[in-house]
Amino acid sequence: MGSVQSEIKCPQCGGRMFTDYYYKTDEEYRFCSCCGKYESWTLVRDDCGKIVLKKNGKVKYTHINRKGYGCACLAFSDGVSQVHHFSSPVRKKDKDEFFRILDSTGIDKEKCYLLKWDAVSKSVVSIYGQIPKYEEE
Ligand SMILES: [Zn+2]
Repeated sequence: MGSVQSEIKCPQCGGRMFTDYYYKTDEEYRFCSCCGKYESWTLVRDDCGKIVLKKNGKVKYTHINRKGYGCACLAFSDGVSQVHHFSSPVRKKDKDEFFRILDSTGIDKEKCYLLKWDAVSKSVVSIYGQIPKYEEE
């Protein structure tokens, strides 16, 4: 454990972006549930999972900043939901897969969505379902 979760407005689409901050290690993960943008600051670890230190004994961080291409959310009737972030434009294959799963049992169709990033209009377009809105406090 040891993380703080919160929500911010996504810098790419203005949608709901979740943040997960680990205060013990100063690592942070951010992902948008609309456009699928992903950003993280994590400690550099070796193959064994050991933290790699710089020559001066300080820890090193990797910063990943990935553009969002869309999101697929599959919600199950037991309340669990899975969000998949596309790291490349949504293909026909992805859509087919989504609609195939959507028709299976145990899926709460009303809460599912498939969204894609439209590079022309620079906004999130819904292929299926509602686009989650970021509510300002
Ligand atoms: Zn976004």
